[in-house]
Amino acid sequence: MIFRLLIAIVLIALGFFLIRRLRLHLRQDKKNKLEQNNQYQETICCKQCGLRLPKSEAIEKNGVFYCSEEHTEK
Ligand SMILES: [Zn+2]
Repeated sequence: MIFRLLIAIVLIALGFFLIRRLRLHLRQDKKNKLEQNNQYQETICCKQCGLRLPKSEAIEKNGVFYCSEEHTEK
């Protein structure tokens, strides 16, 4: 009787463990995809300080890219 109970507990624990692992794995996949997307995003270098940032976040002036409004001056 106790033996059966033990088996049941072990099975339940194993089930939880597997579900947790599966969820973690799915989350990792999502993260990897996100990182890949970021890699494909075009990046530029600020002409003033050399900072690398996505083109969408950069400020363009006269065909030159800068990281912030301050660096567009000078
Ligand atoms: Zn800059």
